[in-house]
Amino acid sequence: MKTYQVDKNGYYGRFGGAYIPEILHQCVQDLRDNYLKILESDDFKREFDQLLRDYVGRPSPLYLAKRLSDKYGCKIYLKREDLNHTGAHKINNTIGQILLARRMGKSRIIAETGAGQHGVATATVCALMDMKCVVYMGKTDVERQHANVQKMEMLGAIVVPVTSGNMTLKDATNEAIRDWCCHPSDTHYIIGSTVGPHPYPDMVARLQSVISAEIKKQLMEKEGRDYPDYLIACVGGGSNAAGTIYHYVDDERVKIILAEAGGKGILSGMSAATIQLGKEGIIHGARTLVMQDEDGQIEEPYSISAGLDYPGIGPIHANLSATGRARVLAINDDEALNAAFELTRMEGIIPALESAHALGALPKVEFAPGTVVVLTVSGRGDKDMDTYIKNLNIRDL
Ligand SMILES: *Cc1c(COP(=O)(O)O)cnc(C)c1O
Repeated sequence: MKTYQVDKNGYYGRFGGAYIPEILHQCVQDLRDNYLKILESDDFKREFDQLLRDYVGRPSPLYLAKRLSDKYGCKIYLKREDLNHTGAHKINNTIGQILLARRMGKSRIIAETGAGQHGVATATVCALMDMKCVVYMGKTDVERQHANVQKMEMLGAIVVPVTSGNMTLKDATNEAIRDWCCHPSDTHYIIGSTVGPHPYPDMVARLQSVISAEIKKQLMEKEGRDYPDYLIACVGGGSNAAGTIYHYVDDERVKIILAEAGGKGILSGMSAATIQLGKEGIIHGARTLVMQDEDGQIEEPYSISAGLDYPGIGPIHANLSATGRARVLAINDDEALNAAFELTRMEGIIPALESAHALGALPKVEFAPGTVVVLTVSGRGDKDMDTYIKNLNIRDL
């Protein structure tokens, strides 16, 4: 049967794989040999499920947004990852990976972070599990995301400002990889999205797949069938989208729409629409689409949303786009802002700017009446209030 899941060599079509320095070979091999055994063990499942329930607050609600549905002429259900502890889907992955790290005998956790959301989710589970935590963050990001730096420090993490390159996410990731090379035996690297060398994309997708497992149950209760007509999610590296589609990806009845960050427009030179602008290449250990110039130098992505400006994309999503399985839309800054204000005023939910890109896809799709749409609200908007307020006065609400 045709599948969009990972193959036994770690590839999705021609994307994925593990392109890593020799010194990391053993670490990645250990992870590859153990991750499925651990994730599928009863002992892991019991502890993971219990923490997702009692600590994160799962299952997250599937909410029928009535006013939004009326406006777009279909039935729009919102998968409320914004209601999770720490405010987004990222905690699902960090809890899973720290349980795995403990079972692999690791005592030290490292992570990279851009906006700081993954850093906070990692520092949170390290406090919970009493593990040492070092978070690499570009110096530019340390300065612009100060509240998250303070949270990480309060949680007991060491935040290391990275001063190479543009001092943003890609440079922080390089530094985390360098750290891992120096401490391969005692350290687990918690990657925050469906990126990096195999088995990370598959491992993160599996840990986030709780999102679609819940959607199946919840739709069965609400609609009498366990699948929607459309799934919509935003993509930075791709983890909330991967979790949203995981149990539906091989079910062609379900259409998939991925919203990436168009920035100021995909032809403006200020964009993070990696799937549409990227060329095939290797970034952080995987073959995927990469925003790069003619010499293969990585181009700095731009988006109003700090969580979407990664110059690569998960190999899962590169393949979904290349095969036509998913439709990919670039949502520009102003479209995302409009969508965020619309959700806030129509449903009383202030979404994260990242999630607002998924909402920004709604006006771009023609839905037949009665169509069932599930859209993942990946996080809440508290962290984006400054940006929202700055843009509030220039529009007529
Ligand atoms: C980090 C983040 C994203 C982007 O990451 P993915 O791996 O693509 O899901 C999206 N939404 C929120 C709220 C985030 O914090």
